[in-house]
Amino acid sequence: MQCPRCKSTNVSVQVVHQSQLVNDNYGCLWWALIGWWWVPIKWIFFTFFALIWFVIKPRRQKIVNHSYKEAICQDCAFVWDVSYQEAQESEEIYNRQKEKVRQIKRQRRKKAWQSFKDKRATKRQARTKKKEENAKRKALQDSIPLDENGQRPVI
Ligand SMILES: [Zn+2]
Repeated sequence: MQCPRCKSTNVSVQVVHQSQLVNDNYGCLWWALIGWWWVPIKWIFFTFFALIWFVIKPRRQKIVNHSYKEAICQDCAFVWDVSYQEAQESEEIYNRQKEKVRQIKRQRRKKAWQSFKDKRATKRQARTKKKEENAKRKALQDSIPLDENGQRPVI
């Protein structure tokens, strides 16, 4: 691994675990099935108890853990997120591969077009040759003198 700032390879990597305390709210399903009618009814019909419960209820909280790889350059003390860098690099590789595939396809298309053009040219040449031969034969035919019936023998 290389430091992006000073290009040194003297880098140490460590995994950082992070825990965060966040408020745990009801999910979408609870709101869709129960919340939308229960909350208004609770406040309209059980206002007193709801108020007491609102004050004394324990806060619903949960711990969210996430970890990421962090690299520290030993030369310039630059710190960066390796996971992010790795993601970027893999995207670069993916883009490069895509470009390669595109190039191959382009070449194949070019080749196909070239072979089509070659075939067409060959056909055209054959046609021209045949026409020339026909003209020659006709000229030869016309050069033969007429026989007694006023007809020319066909070659
Ligand atoms: Zn560095």
